[in-house]
Amino acid sequence: MAQVVTRFAPSPTGPLHLGHAFSALMAHDYARTKGGQFLLRIEDIDQTRSRPMWEAHILDDLTWLGIRWDAPPLRQSDHLPSYRAALQTLWDRGLLYPCHCNRRDILAAASAPQEGAPLLGPDGVIYPGTCRPNHTPTGPLPGPGVALRLNMARAMQVLGDPSLTYIELGDAATSAVDPVQTIGDIVLSRRDFIGSYHLSVTCDDAAAQITHVIRGADLAQATPIHVLLQKLLGLPTPTYWHHRLIRDDQGKRLAKRDDAAALSGLRTAGATAQDIRRMVGL
Ligand code: GLU
Repeated sequence: MAQVVTRFAPSPTGPLHLGHAFSALMAHDYARTKGGQFLLRIEDIDQTRSRPMWEAHILDDLTWLGIRWDAPPLRQSDHLPSYRAALQTLWDRGLLYPCHCNRRDILAAASAPQEGAPLLGPDGVIYPGTCRPNHTPTGPLPGPGVALRLNMARAMQVLGDPSLTYIELGDAATSAVDPVQTIGDIVLSRRDFIGSYHLSVTCDDAAAQITHVIRGADLAQATPIHVLLQKLLGLPTPTYWHHRLIRDDQGKRLAKRDDAAALSGLRTAGATAQDIRRMVGL
């Protein structure tokens, strides 16, 4: 059997809180119990929001928690050519088209009276198809500087199998009943940077040979998209484990702005790594 490889993939856009600590510990501990490897990936693809200062804080907090990674941390900003190559593959297969809509255009088109209430997918309002061409676009891959969307109907045609199945630690999970209706034409490359969360995560997990993606249940709705991209790009599908979320006293999911749960504050107040483990129920 292949060696277990897990990862923690924080975005350096704010301080780590208890929810991140739980996620990192889950992925780390799983690799350690299985005699596998644990990797760290800094998801800094969105350079408008990422800050080196946060990256340094994150590494410091993780080390303090007793987490060790088995290779130097990967940084998404170092992998832009691999995202561009994946876009090229999808473009060559006629699965992408350029989109010039902004958020306001999309909301207006999706809320037009004849459309009823706008439908929501994993990325917000499902794209109403304003820029979707009738014919496959030709010529060189557009961009950078242009948003590219996946033509979901064409992608499903190409796959010929609408079941985006994957293993959820032990159970076969099938989700996204009809991706054309429930996910729609998602953005795979943004106007302001090459790639998108979905594309970069899919490429990076495959490149690092991640066998088990252990992450919060809030990301479960993105997983069918990642499975779809794996199939379209000929990449393996890892096993997934979408773990419970750590909530505040009111039962709300923790956000980066929840200072009370920030690891740095808890550290300053004298908490130990063992205390953190206890607080998240480990
Ligand atoms: N970078 C994402 C986050 O901070 C996690 C992505 C993933 O685990 O797939 O929420």
